[in-house]
Amino acid sequence: MYDKNNIFAKILRKEIPCDKIYEDEFSLFFKDINPQAKIHILGIPKFPCTTLSDFLNNADNENILSFFKSVQLVISNLDIEKNGYRLITNSGDDGGQEVPHFHLHILAGEKIGRLR
Ligand code: AMP
Repeated sequence: MYDKNNIFAKILRKEIPCDKIYEDEFSLFFKDINPQAKIHILGIPKFPCTTLSDFLNNADNENILSFFKSVQLVISNLDIEKNGYRLITNSGDDGGQEVPHFHLHILAGEKIGRLR
């Protein structure tokens, strides 16, 4: 069940601000408030969904394609393709998800290191 009062839903409704780097009809990308790398961007679809699986199972193809095309556009605009980057999505309790609106973390700008 999607929680309409989660913090990213509030950002999408412009009830609270974010440091936006890209927005279109389907997606919003903004800087993480507590960056874990020199570049740490969060990308979210505007479609209300809690996890990647929720998004892929319930959004239509236009939403899904547009969101992932926007991920590539942001990666291209940040000029991080050559040096590399890491994409992470935390899902549910075991995944350590804190905000229950599906988001991709884009980490880059330095060597990110091993996951564990
Ligand atoms: P997760 O554990 O994958 O749910 O990550 C949630 C992320 O959202 C964390 O990296 C937080 O630093 C980030 N975050 C929480 N509130 C905000 C906010 N208001 N603006 C930007 N990033 C946020």
